[in-house]
Amino acid sequence: MPLINPLDLLKEASKNDFAIPAFNVHTMEMIQAVAEKAAEMRAPVIIQTTPGTLRHAGIAYIVSNVKTAAEKYNIPIALHLDHCSDYNIVIKCIRGGYTSVMVDGSMLPYQENVKLVKDVVKVAKAADIAVEGEIGRIGGTEDNISVDNKKENLTTPKEAKKFTRDTGINSLAVAIGTAHGVYKGEPKLDFKRLIEIKNEVNVPLVLHGASGVPEESVKKAIEKGMTKINIATDLKIPMTEAIKKYFKENPKLNDPRKYLGEGKKAVKQVLEEKIKLCGVVGLLDR
Ligand SMILES: [Zn+2]
Repeated sequence: MPLINPLDLLKEASKNDFAIPAFNVHTMEMIQAVAEKAAEMRAPVIIQTTPGTLRHAGIAYIVSNVKTAAEKYNIPIALHLDHCSDYNIVIKCIRGGYTSVMVDGSMLPYQENVKLVKDVVKVAKAADIAVEGEIGRIGGTEDNISVDNKKENLTTPKEAKKFTRDTGINSLAVAIGTAHGVYKGEPKLDFKRLIEIKNEVNVPLVLHGASGVPEESVKKAIEKGMTKINIATDLKIPMTEAIKKYFKENPKLNDPRKYLGEGKKAVKQVLEEKIKLCGVVGLLDR
């Protein structure tokens, strides 16, 4: 199956009590893990990469790996660009075969943010590519971008409505108390705010920084209107820990297939939990 634009799935999710899991990948093994698990569990998934991963692997390698996976298993996979503030990279990804992009101008003054996003929306619409925007600012660290607590800004329903209307985006990432990276304490999600935003905005909503959030809170966020759940750190750490463990137990071995294989196994375990948590097991057969 060719890579899909995820928008129809997200719209379906917003009418139902499930969400589409979006997994950040960094290596071929992670792409394989996501595709194998998704096929096994008959679940639609979004595979996403940050600009940092593109600098590491290159657009063409990522696209061809993900396309190969979608064809091999004949399942719907969307390929999404996560948190990109560079117009040229967004366009390169669209040309390269991505089916969804997030343009993140949340560090810019409002009017500049709107202009950047609108410019992307114009091109993306013509190419049938979904565009995710962000208003408010999600805290924590992703790629090289850190947002400290002082600059973190929870999204207000009013600005969510205005931003969605001003830009024409297809989905909206909102800040309701989650953060990127590893949490120091237990994150508290502002569900009241989420419900108010959902009432004001007519596009699917996206939860960033879902790694490390208690399962009950993620479930509740899905019930209250989140349609895409981004998972990055919860894959990265188990993969690395599995490889570290492998070397601790086998300090003399040096076969990348062995240690990356251990990493892949660890990733697949987490994927299974997350796909269940999002409520999409068997969705492809429903
Ligand atoms: Zn994010």
